[in-house]
Amino acid sequence: MAPKPQVIALEEHYLDPEIKQHIAGMDRTGGPRVAERLDDVGQGRIAEMDAAGIDIQVLSHGAPSVQKIADAELAVRLARGANDRLAETVRAHPDRFAGFATLPTPDPKAAADELERAVTRLGFKGAMVHGLTNGLFLDDRRFWPIFERAAALDVPLYLHPSIPHPAVIEAYYKDYVDKYPTILRAAWGFTVETATQGIRLILSGVFDEHPGLKIILGHLGEGLPFYLWRINMGLVRDGAGPNWFRDAFCEHFWITTSGFFSDPALLLCVMEMGVDRILFSVDYPFVENAPGTEWVHRIPLCAEDSAKILSGNAKRLLKM
Ligand code: MN
Repeated sequence: MAPKPQVIALEEHYLDPEIKQHIAGMDRTGGPRVAERLDDVGQGRIAEMDAAGIDIQVLSHGAPSVQKIADAELAVRLARGANDRLAETVRAHPDRFAGFATLPTPDPKAAADELERAVTRLGFKGAMVHGLTNGLFLDDRRFWPIFERAAALDVPLYLHPSIPHPAVIEAYYKDYVDKYPTILRAAWGFTVETATQGIRLILSGVFDEHPGLKIILGHLGEGLPFYLWRINMGLVRDGAGPNWFRDAFCEHFWITTSGFFSDPALLLCVMEMGVDRILFSVDYPFVENAPGTEWVHRIPLCAEDSAKILSGNAKRLLKM
């Protein structure tokens, strides 16, 4: 029998003690049980990983991280401190944890420099960015130094959701927010926000300028694999090349299973993108570990493909 593949999970959150002082209002999420586990980057977390059969968590800060810090200098200071503390956490348990950097996107040049420091000096595997940065999508030219640096370092950027823009909440969701607050989050708002981020990135031409750029989306690609054919068809009407959009997506994007443990949705992603682009994740502690590992061990794929999703693809993409 082949040895049991390792299980690596990529979208697993914690909160930094300093950054979390700056997270307020609707951006605060979860009850006391989630809050307690977001703070724990030690034995409690590892015990939960052991109980569910997760070997390694690639740790990332929770949303919105420093993306909504209006004072760019403060964002830079907070990100550097958080990355130093995360590096200590990983050093304490190098066989159980790896890290995605926090990037101070309010200062794009500093964010590019911090990405380089986090990768080359702290050993991080890439970075995670949450939603809009002070109201701007990341395809804005001002952020391109970050993409240039990520491509040069050959590390992926994980685009994670955040609460939608206030004007979007007002126009699209406000009637249902009181009764169904997750309409802004996992139930729909996160998906639209992050899928839009992904689409805009391709439309911007950033992948033409930086062909080595690698992007990770959680939640099985935020719906984009399902819509690839239709988005592509629409853009062809606008004069795009026959397979421009779907080729760009399938060449530059990887997706994870965070918080989305569905056989039909997974199989659609395999059919659209190929199994090499799909990586296991839970979205801990917003989602429990056990339903994720129980599901992923019985997905209807052969052992070889399953092993790629469990950790083979992560090891290749993150050079672990
Ligand atoms: Mn998440």
